[in-house]
Amino acid sequence: MFWESGDYHGHHVRAPIGVSMLIDWLPEQPRMVRVRVRDYTCDCQPTSYELCQAGGVRFIRRISKECGGLLIAESPDAVALTINELWAKLLKGAAR
Ligand SMILES: [Zn+2]
Repeated sequence: MFWESGDYHGHHVRAPIGVSMLIDWLPEQPRMVRVRVRDYTCDCQPTSYELCQAGGVRFIRRISKECGGLLIAESPDAVALTINELWAKLLKGAAR
């Protein structure tokens, strides 16, 4: 992972290369606990992602700019280790 130097962009998700994992994106879930964003990708792209922690689980939030609004979807919840691996794959272009 890297931050581009000299500008204010965050991570850019790489173009899909040999996608080995398709994420089962679900509608945004109502949550009883506060959601903390642990990492995120640059929102200069039409679709950006957030690595979220909610209580004891993590998930990835997908934010798509569509028709002037935001369409939000979430990956299934899982333990931090599982979601961290998924996040790394997403950034590398191996998961969508
Ligand atoms: Zn950017």
